[in-house]
Amino acid sequence: MAKRKTVLVIGGGVVGLCAALSLQDRGFDATLVDDAPERPPASWGNVGHIATEQVAPLASWAMVFDMPRRLMTVGGPVSFPPTAIGTWLPFGLRLLAAASPRRFDQGKAALADLLGQALPAWRRRAARVGAPDLLKETGHLVAWESEAAAARGRREMSTAVADGVTRGEASAADTEALRRAVARPLAGAMRYAGTGSVSDPGAALSTLHLAFVAAGGRVERGVVDAARLGRRESDLVVIAAGARSGALMRALGHPTPIVAERGYHIQSAAAARDWPEELPPVVFEERALVVSRFASGLRATSFVEFTRHDAPPDPRKWARLHAHMAALGAAFGADTTTWHGSRPTLPDYLPAIGVSSKDPRVIYAFGHQHLGLTLGPLSGEIVADLATGERPAVDLSPFAVERFA
Ligand SMILES: Cc1cc2nc3c(=O)[nH]c(=O)nc-3n(C[C@H](O)[C@H](O)[C@H](O)COP(=O)(O)OP(=O)(O)OC[C@H]3O[C@@H](n4cnc5c(N)ncnc54)[C@H](O)[C@@H]3O)c2cc1C
Repeated sequence: MAKRKTVLVIGGGVVGLCAALSLQDRGFDATLVDDAPERPPASWGNVGHIATEQVAPLASWAMVFDMPRRLMTVGGPVSFPPTAIGTWLPFGLRLLAAASPRRFDQGKAALADLLGQALPAWRRRAARVGAPDLLKETGHLVAWESEAAAARGRREMSTAVADGVTRGEASAADTEALRRAVARPLAGAMRYAGTGSVSDPGAALSTLHLAFVAAGGRVERGVVDAARLGRRESDLVVIAAGARSGALMRALGHPTPIVAERGYHIQSAAAARDWPEELPPVVFEERALVVSRFASGLRATSFVEFTRHDAPPDPRKWARLHAHMAALGAAFGADTTTWHGSRPTLPDYLPAIGVSSKDPRVIYAFGHQHLGLTLGPLSGEIVADLATGERPAVDLSPFAVERFA
């Protein structure tokens, strides 16, 4: 019998795990290596939204012009810590170049291609690991507290979003559930359909992990550095190391301007008791706050902090999350846990997925910014297509890392 091909997957987040599982499905003998950091990764700490509506790359003139209003100093979610200027300034200059209308339109078309296939890929992955209930295809809500925000939102309601995604006025049942969740009166809410969520990101990660091990996958604890990457210990290597993929890619000779776009969450099991179970993820638009009720508790997330992956956290952000939830009447008490973690973001807000032009035995899949949970299963399938020489279902040219050369 022919010996099975071996693959080393670097990174045990949702992208690495999905890649490892899809490679196993195609007959590879897979080893997953992760350094299991003290702080769980973004794939664990995210807000669980399958965001098929987010086809517009965040690198846009609209985002740039809106930035002064979005800064943390004026109550917004975005911060550029002065100590990390060496990280965010070069990133910001590249982002400005990527925000031109032409590149924005190209990026939007490329993201729409990926996102259009994200939910079917999630369905396949959840079914294949025997956990279809991980995926909830119940859309999400956007809630407004001021009449001005509601009027703005309603004007957008009738415009097209993305293929397969629709939006309209929240139903009477949604409004009633929001009334029970939130103490202050809301000015309105919009319901999205064609988007989804996971029942719990932590549970999703452990289910994928267990399925990989059950199918004979090996898991190693440790860091892969440039020296180990250079050793030919497997037929193929997959770089799926999230925000820390840059160092490995640069070791291969690929300029990779990735930044850690950090977010924060607070979570409380007690607060979940008063949050209606039927509510899907809710975006409180004016607060740039997303709240999801998971099996493990109620989670409130926000913030975009452009910094180094390993910079110390900013505790004011957890305090701000507490204040938001208290203002909404859903106070988080003594059982609250806090987390911060890194979205892996490239300046044009497109992921990097492809085969290395420097070393054809290396496949890379990282840089999924705010969409890694959404795109994990699809990225895994694409990695397996590249490994087996099959034609991926999407054109990968916009995602080649050479765009930064
Ligand atoms: C607050 C917040 C909310 C979010 N909400 C959503 C959401 O609702 N929907 C959505 O789609 N996305 C969301 N995201 C984004 C999403 O979480 C990320 O895009 C996604 O988790 C990235 O997955 P990954 O596998 O690429 O990286 P990670 O989850 O970061 O995993 C990478 C893993 O690789 C390991 N690693 C790194 N370097 C090495 C090395 N050299 N050797 C060995 N191991 C290594 C790390 O320790 C880590 O475990 C959110 C992110 C944040 C921060």
